[in-house]
Amino acid sequence: MTQTGPLGSHPRQLGLIGHPVGHSVSPQMHNAAFAQQRMNCQYTAWAVEPASLKDAVAGIRALGILGVNVTIPHKEAVIPLLDEVAPTAAQVGAVNTIVNRGGRLMGYNTDGWGFQSSLEEAGVKLPGLEVVVLGAGGAARAIALGLARSRVARVVISNRTPERAERLAADISALVPEVPVSAVEALSQEERSALIDAGLVVNCTPLGMAGAGAGLSAVSDINLLPQLAVVYDTVYTPQETRLLKEARQRGLRTVGGLGMLVHQGACAWEYWFGRRGPVSVMTEAAKAALGGGA
Ligand code: NAP
Repeated sequence: MTQTGPLGSHPRQLGLIGHPVGHSVSPQMHNAAFAQQRMNCQYTAWAVEPASLKDAVAGIRALGILGVNVTIPHKEAVIPLLDEVAPTAAQVGAVNTIVNRGGRLMGYNTDGWGFQSSLEEAGVKLPGLEVVVLGAGGAARAIALGLARSRVARVVISNRTPERAERLAADISALVPEVPVSAVEALSQEERSALIDAGLVVNCTPLGMAGAGAGLSAVSDINLLPQLAVVYDTVYTPQETRLLKEARQRGLRTVGGLGMLVHQGACAWEYWFGRRGPVSVMTEAAKAALGGGA
């Protein structure tokens, strides 16, 4: 287990690198957990411009920073700057967690784990489900690969840029050939057909997120979905997006992205400290930082 230093000595440093990071509740979430566990650690959000990523990664080594989370837009670009990348992160093509082991930087991806844990918490059983993944970026890559490995019946990836969905579908098919994975264009007739059969729909786009995506929904017509469908939104600001609100009003089961955030963070602890982070403390802290609303 990594040493976290006795209370009273200088705290070990951890943090988040991304751009922007002002919206992030990860500092409140991790610092609350450190306090509750009486660990002498401190987590800070560092805004890092793309042009400064290389220097920031060198800084992790130079300053002896214990561990770092990585977010938009650095999850892919950071890979060549690391000493080693775990197989799942390499397959996903994105790193969201870095561990500094004596100057050697190791990259992991805990987003897929966070997604699956939050689904389990919500009681959703994946095997046999027909799934539509909206988006084909970093989050979609981690989620779609995890879904295929969980033996869903099929995965349809729908994206604004169809070539990106096709690349992701091909990558997953190569890794998990026994699960059918296909690509469609967002808002196309093929997407509508997939939504009509969906048992689970996962939004992995920023549509609905506070800021540029505010008030938008990644699903053009919620009435397409069958009554038993589960609707998952990875966006967690606001906690109830327009997609989740429309799904709830239609009586569909909904799961918001806060659980994924908490579980990916709790899983990052496994790599930093050799044990899972305290999920309930982290959930309460993240909710409080987001304004306490449900
Ligand atoms: P990303 O790699 O930049 O991918 C963004 C995806 O959204 C791409 O497929 C992109 O389509 C699509 N998109 C962007 N703007 C769009 C628009 N205006 N209309 C339609 N599609 C649009 O980002 P990411 O890392 O995958 O993150 C995506 C979202 O996942 C974020 O907004 C974040 O809220 C959420 N997320 C949540 C967690 C969590 O813990 N809850 C973790 C990671 C991410 P193109 O390919 O056409 O550009």
